[in-house]
Amino acid sequence: MPSMLDAVVVGAGPNGLTAAVELARRGFSVAVFEARGSVGGGARTEELTLPGFRHDPCSAAHPLGINSPAFRAMPLERYGLAWLQPELPMAHPLLDGRAAAVLARSVAETAASFGPRDAGAYRRLVEPFLPHWDTLLRDFMSLPLTALPRDPVLLARFGLVGLPPSTWLMRRFRDDPARALFSGLVAHVIAPLGGLATGGVGMVFALAAHARGWPLARGGSQSISDALAAYLTDLGGIIHTTTRSSGSTTCRPPARTSSTPRPPRSPGSPDSGAITTTSGTAPPPSRSTTRSTGPCRGPRPRRAPRAPSRSVRAAARSVPRCGPRPARAGRRTRRS
Ligand SMILES: Cc1cc2nc3c(=O)[nH]c(=O)nc-3n(C[C@H](O)[C@H](O)[C@H](O)COP(=O)(O)OP(=O)(O)OC[C@H]3O[C@@H](n4cnc5c(N)ncnc54)[C@H](O)[C@@H]3O)c2cc1C
Repeated sequence: MPSMLDAVVVGAGPNGLTAAVELARRGFSVAVFEARGSVGGGARTEELTLPGFRHDPCSAAHPLGINSPAFRAMPLERYGLAWLQPELPMAHPLLDGRAAAVLARSVAETAASFGPRDAGAYRRLVEPFLPHWDTLLRDFMSLPLTALPRDPVLLARFGLVGLPPSTWLMRRFRDDPARALFSGLVAHVIAPLGGLATGGVGMVFALAAHARGWPLARGGSQSISDALAAYLTDLGGIIHTTTRSSGSTTCRPPARTSSTPRPPRSPGSPDSGAITTTSGTAPPPSRSTTRSTGPCRGPRPRRAPRAPSRSVRAAARSVPRCGPRPARAGRRTRRS
């Protein structure tokens, strides 16, 4: 009988891969289904212009990548991820030949680039939070909170600064350099600068720069995704590229009958994971296509799954079915 999956993740972008790794690290069996021909989503690198010139069409700098508690708990450097730190995380050129405002690793250098009238205001803004950055980031990234924050007082203090619109926060600055640079930080959220909590976004990007920089990944952002994918497959996860999920709510992964989390498989073991291109042999799940020979084979609830072909052996044992599910004994609930 084919083994059952604990989780199916749709999309092999950085978040999907991270979620899959987190599950696999805890012993859950996971498969990731990616519509494109390669992993990465918004963290990918492609030859878009001349041969040999590789570009990041989406994400390029990774202040939240290097600061991510999830990434920092993974041995991604063993899978080829290396961060490259530019001399300056960010600069904002100004008109009329004035020196650019810079976001430097050091608070002092950043403040100095804002000029004497705003240097003190910037220091007073960021310095109280910097020593507690890791705690603050964890609490900030957990918003909306599902549990007590690690440091409620710190988070409340940060909320006083970060919850109002960034346009309010920028009133602390008197001159263009600080306002321009801070606007650029906030603009990363792709929302109006006057939106609620946009001040917090600008603060997080500034604090991230001072804490660990805004690095690039050596080889491009694809290296992040490739490292996550390699780690995931070493943990036994399976990635299916060129496989679009239909998004059907009736598509569910087969549930495991065992209630015991499996320990992570050792690299290279027969049961360890793989990246498979399933196009042609394993069409994407589809609610409406009944001719499909792929993962979703329509409502056939009482029949045992068909034996997988050699070419899709990993895929076929893990794909979601469409349609009503048969009654199952011992549905697994997560206990950890
Ligand atoms: C222009 C731009 C620049 C950016 N720059 C930066 C930056 O410099 N630094 C930074 O940290 N962040 C940056 N970001 C944000 C960053 O790209 C995203 O936060 C990140 O990619 C989100 O990751 P994700 O895994 O949630 O989604 P995505 O990266 O979007 O990945 C989703 C994946 O799911 C797949 N998918 C979607 N639907 C299906 C389906 N039905 N079936 C199967 N697969 C499916 C997609 O093909 C894709 O591969 C930028 C974003 C944009 C738009």
